[in-house]
Amino acid sequence: MAKIPQERKFIYYLGMILMILGVILFLSVFFSVASFMKNPTMLFGGMPSFGNAIIGMIFMMIGGVLMNIGAKGAAGSGIILDPEKAREDLKPFNEAKGGMINDVVSNIDVVDRLVNAREEKEVIKIKCRNCACLNDEDAKFCKGCGQEL
Ligand SMILES: [Zn+2]
Repeated sequence: MAKIPQERKFIYYLGMILMILGVILFLSVFFSVASFMKNPTMLFGGMPSFGNAIIGMIFMMIGGVLMNIGAKGAAGSGIILDPEKAREDLKPFNEAKGGMINDVVSNIDVVDRLVNAREEKEVIKIKCRNCACLNDEDAKFCKGCGQEL
């Protein structure tokens, strides 16, 4: 079993870091678009920068190529990174990446909920004179205290 040169691992990790940066850049554009659509009048939040999305994609592509070189070696070198060992090496990275993806997913969920919450707020509610409970527009009785509206 040939030993994997340290530089190749470095290239592999560098590729992975680039890829993660690319994903973050790419997603940051997504989130700025989401917040922009949520509040289009707030121009100081800035128009979403689509340049970042392109840079993000380039980062991901370069990262992918670097990871490939790191894993398989430059063309014809013949040494293939031991997948078992690589998995062991990358464990903390994979866990970090998994956590990040979970964060991103829960962020998407939060954005989704914020957008929906805004829509809900636009529904007309009637405030009860007795307990200040908010009731649906067509409600006959307060759902909080039962008083006739
Ligand atoms: Zn009430």
